[in-house]
Amino acid sequence: MPVLDRAARAFFLTELIAGLALTLKYVLRPRATLNYPYEKGPISPRFKGEHALRRYPNGEERCIACKLCEAICPAQAITIEAEPRADGSRRTTRYDIDMTKCIYCGLCEEACPVDAIVEGPNFEFATETREELMYDKDRLLANGDRWETELAARLAADAPYR
Ligand code: SF4
Ligand code: SF4
Repeated sequence: MPVLDRAARAFFLTELIAGLALTLKYVLRPRATLNYPYEKGPISPRFKGEHALRRYPNGEERCIACKLCEAICPAQAITIEAEPRADGSRRTTRYDIDMTKCIYCGLCEEACPVDAIVEGPNFEFATETREELMYDKDRLLANGDRWETELAARLAADAPYR
């Protein structure tokens, strides 16, 4: 009987037809997959991605070198050096993040009193070497300049809950 059954299935192509029916069943439904990297899913305003240092609209750095982010970082990934400027304002001369140590906890962002250091929406910053993950101030400020529109929108969206 099993032999006859198998022969009948092969003769009438029942498995092929069942497979095609399944394809037709799903072909008109909304897709459950994304064509990454050309399509990307939504990201929460609280998503903790690549770090950035922000500026004020006039171009001045937000960071006032208070070092709260450095103090709170549980991974000790942040290194800051600072000195007063000629006008008496305090600014960093060095702001490094060792991204290989960072655990993306977001505490640096929470501690910052002026929303200078933030974790943005960018998660596509994989590198081929460890050295490329040693971020300095220029890199972080460049990230801030690149992502400022998104960063400001994310902070505004999250502001009512902070
Ligand atoms: S996200 Fe957390 S681990 Fe990473 S630099 Fe900020 S405080 Fe440190
Ligand atoms: S990024 Fe914020 S918390 Fe860190 S030193 Fe600058 S002002 Fe202070």
